[in-house]
Amino acid sequence: MKLVFEKGMNLSEVEVIRHYSTLSKLNFGVDFGFYPLGSCTMKYNPKINEDMAKLEGFTLLHPLQPVSTAQGALELMHNLEKMLCEICGFERFSLQPAAGANGELTGIMIIQAYFRKKRENRSKILVPDSAHGTNPASVSVCGFEAVEIKSDKDGNIDLGELKEKMTEDVAGIMITNPNTLGLFDQNILEVCKIVHEKGGLVYGDGANMNAMLGICKPKELGIDVMHLNLHKSFATPHGGGGPGSGPVGVIKELVEFLPIPLIEKKGEEYVFNYENENSIGKLRSFYGNFGVMVKAYTYLKAIGAEGIREVAEIAVLNANYLKEKLKKHYNLPFDRVCQHEFVLDDSKMPNGVTTNDIAKRLMDYGFHPPTVYFPLIVHGALMIEPTETETKETLDEFANAMIKIKEEAEKNPEIVKGAPHSTPVKRLDAVKAAREPNLRWKP
Ligand SMILES: *Cc1c(COP(=O)(O)O)cnc(C)c1O
Repeated sequence: MKLVFEKGMNLSEVEVIRHYSTLSKLNFGVDFGFYPLGSCTMKYNPKINEDMAKLEGFTLLHPLQPVSTAQGALELMHNLEKMLCEICGFERFSLQPAAGANGELTGIMIIQAYFRKKRENRSKILVPDSAHGTNPASVSVCGFEAVEIKSDKDGNIDLGELKEKMTEDVAGIMITNPNTLGLFDQNILEVCKIVHEKGGLVYGDGANMNAMLGICKPKELGIDVMHLNLHKSFATPHGGGGPGSGPVGVIKELVEFLPIPLIEKKGEEYVFNYENENSIGKLRSFYGNFGVMVKAYTYLKAIGAEGIREVAEIAVLNANYLKEKLKKHYNLPFDRVCQHEFVLDDSKMPNGVTTNDIAKRLMDYGFHPPTVYFPLIVHGALMIEPTETETKETLDEFANAMIKIKEEAEKNPEIVKGAPHSTPVKRLDAVKAAREPNLRWKP
């Protein structure tokens, strides 16, 4: 049933329900099918997490009500912070930042405050060429100059270039490990050492924490300050239509700069502490996106310390399984054991079929396309992240669809270049859609 609403129209309940139920099926979500969006960790969010976040004791809280009447919420945040500290090895976390990019901004402001207190004038921050776009953006927003560092032929940070560029006017480096190629940087200890020896700090972009959970602690690698994406590694799927949460963890030496308030336990009571000596202040209203914290807390409580390690092990196993199946058919620019994701490209595709065509054709087979054309250092990149939440059967179905698309590209390229054929909206002029969005659904 398709309706066009007009002013003054009378509709029955069932007409309205059918209209909205039909609309809800026009979109794709992680509850409909496989969603291998690399770098964004679209893992399944167990519904118990939603049930907990929906409890009235949480949803009816007001951020301004007296703390003595919100002790449960403070206890939850306090305990979540403790768990994140344990997972990462950090001294403390602020749960305030609203997303990964907001966490990056927080972290860079902390680095800035650290050098301001030391009265050191450092104007640059190093950012590898495989970094997420938000990294150089956060650096620039804080008034630093972002200096690019190249990757070497194995996909690691180029140590020669790092040594050359890590001078005493550099405040530090922003690294993503595993990096956005899905590769664990084999020189990570050396990278941190080089930066520390010149007095710099190491910022860790924790968006790829899925691969390291319970296996290695960022602090022990030499990372000083880092954000996590609760809406990636800790169950809530990224881009799930809701708010995010990007807690920032720091080593002991940086605790005094964390945003206010911090949550502390005084005797039997949980309190907000606004007296953090050299705090960078507040990053957003109140205390962060509490609902996402409830989901992360529930997730961690449900899987426990053993489970958290298994998350990483299966995420890595799933990615390597898919990589091995697909590398016979697609070009794999960095052929080594990957972490939770891997990157293919379109350089071996026949008849001029591109990454964009492959992505569109996957929709006809019922799959959400992977991340495309990122990271930028791989031309025509297809970045695939299966996560630990998918079964072997689903991975096989996806691999078969990818292999079928390769065959189609050889024998019947027009069907791939004209895809998608089965979706409510066919291939869009992406530029026009962005510049002149038309949000009216015309059946
Ligand atoms: C997602 C992501 C970010 C930014 O996180 P948001 O929550 O989207 O702001 C930063 N770095 C990497 C590697 C990411 O994948």
